[in-house]
Amino acid sequence: MAVTTYVDTWDLEVFFKGGSESEEFQTYLEGIHTDLNEFETTISNFNIEQLEEVLDQHESIIKKISQSSAFVSCLFAANVTDKKAQQLQGKVAASYAKLQGLLSQLDEQFTQVADEDWNNLFSAITLAPLQYVLTERRRRATEKLSATEEKLITSLSVDGYHAWGNLYNSIVGRIKVPFEGEELSVGQAHNKFSSGDRHVRKTVFENWQEAWRKEADTIASSLNHLAGFRLSVYEKRGWDSVLKEPLDNNRMKEETLNTMWQVITDYKEVFSEYLQRKAKLLGLEKLSFYDVGAPLSQNETKLSYQEGAEFILEQFAKFGPELTKFTQKAFEDRWIEAEDRPGKRPGGFCTSFKDSGQSRIFMTYSGTMSNVSTLAHELGHAFHQHAMAGVPVLNSLYASNVAETASTFAEMIVADAAVKNAKTEEEKLALLEDKIQRSVAFYMNIYARFLFETRFYEERKKGLVSAERLDELMVEAQKEAFNDQLAEYEPTFWASKMHFFITQVPFYNFPYTFGYLFSLGIYAQALEEGTAYEEKYIALLKDTASMTVEDLAAKHLGVDLTQRDFWEKAVQLSAQDVEEFLRLTDK
Ligand SMILES: [Zn+2]
Repeated sequence: MAVTTYVDTWDLEVFFKGGSESEEFQTYLEGIHTDLNEFETTISNFNIEQLEEVLDQHESIIKKISQSSAFVSCLFAANVTDKKAQQLQGKVAASYAKLQGLLSQLDEQFTQVADEDWNNLFSAITLAPLQYVLTERRRRATEKLSATEEKLITSLSVDGYHAWGNLYNSIVGRIKVPFEGEELSVGQAHNKFSSGDRHVRKTVFENWQEAWRKEADTIASSLNHLAGFRLSVYEKRGWDSVLKEPLDNNRMKEETLNTMWQVITDYKEVFSEYLQRKAKLLGLEKLSFYDVGAPLSQNETKLSYQEGAEFILEQFAKFGPELTKFTQKAFEDRWIEAEDRPGKRPGGFCTSFKDSGQSRIFMTYSGTMSNVSTLAHELGHAFHQHAMAGVPVLNSLYASNVAETASTFAEMIVADAAVKNAKTEEEKLALLEDKIQRSVAFYMNIYARFLFETRFYEERKKGLVSAERLDELMVEAQKEAFNDQLAEYEPTFWASKMHFFITQVPFYNFPYTFGYLFSLGIYAQALEEGTAYEEKYIALLKDTASMTVEDLAAKHLGVDLTQRDFWEKAVQLSAQDVEEFLRLTDK
């Protein structure tokens, strides 16, 4: 059988010919403009009898807006000097904002409908699948203040809330970390923490701390006011817990969150042993915060794009035919932009062209095993989108905590295979440690962020929290999360971690640990059940955005997320990695 040669650049011409100068795309954007005006008229004359027509109209517009947003972000990512693409991005963002505004108006109308009439709506077969998401929108609208008050909050938040986040970003932009006569940016300095030379890591760490300390008072103000704004809004709405919003966004119960952290805490001895062994291998008594991510050995194996693609396909085939068939098509139809060339933006992503039912993957592939993992990760996202084909858009807007289900799953298949296929012991160790590092990040580092943030908000309710106190709270949280295993912690982590300053999403931490473990738990089941599992897996993915996570897990996995079992199985998988690591390094 002849092997297909895969091309490492993507095809965007199938959507719109001519890149950012595309006339076809211009016409498409004008169409969206017209559609939005029509939608506006519909909304202002809305009556609940017409709900289906309104939703049809919405479905068509949101597909087009997301298609155009995907198109321009692909153009810009592939060529960061494409000014025209940047301009188009602004246009698309404006359409999206307009649609959001109209939807809020619609939500407000929902609250006017009596409960009984509302529930009756969903006896119609066409509306029944949307009951969860629409009722959720209606509930969220009732839990907020009046439309006028909420509008006022939104407009005040530009200068009174988001501005604090922006201020933080501009401070970060001017921070310089001196190193060997150079002035490093925050990003450059951060990269040095993965240096194999401890002297480099230590020096950068000390200078890094000092750089953040210089700005600590201003950054502390920014954090305090940002949090203060959030707390005031919550108070006015009558929300008493800071976890209400993030839990609701992620459609999960607090009980589930607590069980998850409890299981992680119960397994911390295993990961402590890993940290102790790593310290020993580095010739240290105890690791410092800046040693946790240090490399132990180098993994030099390189795979060409073609070899990487074939490796992924080979591993996916052991898991399921649908995933394999889909991935093959993605490679053949050039859904992936992987070429290693200048002018591309860093990082990777997967975006969905909803109007065409296709996805595109962006990354820069230079042949490392970590590139192969990234490629598998993004293919997992694309498969998630594929599994949701035919699902109404309103039922496909998944929350952060389940967004990484398919990507982590795909990455896990490939990472496990890579460890098994390693050619030398050194390579095996590097790949294995890579996996463990991820677990340590989710179970310890992110847990510390969660502990810090929860405690900080409690103190903030009583008044402003000083930079010194923030340092203390941070070290306390890190000590607890790392099970007291480190010799030195990072007190200024509250200032250097930008996630605390994101105003769009509160608590940018636990959803990612949830997502990692959720995926690991599903992977554990798949390992037990073999290729027959795939059908179940696809059915689960289809439902990820139309029910609570507890219902999702009960329906498709037959487990109760508020109980320990599922979480235990998931954590055990990663604990096995540590056991193997300890075996391999026991000399
Ligand atoms: Zn991802």
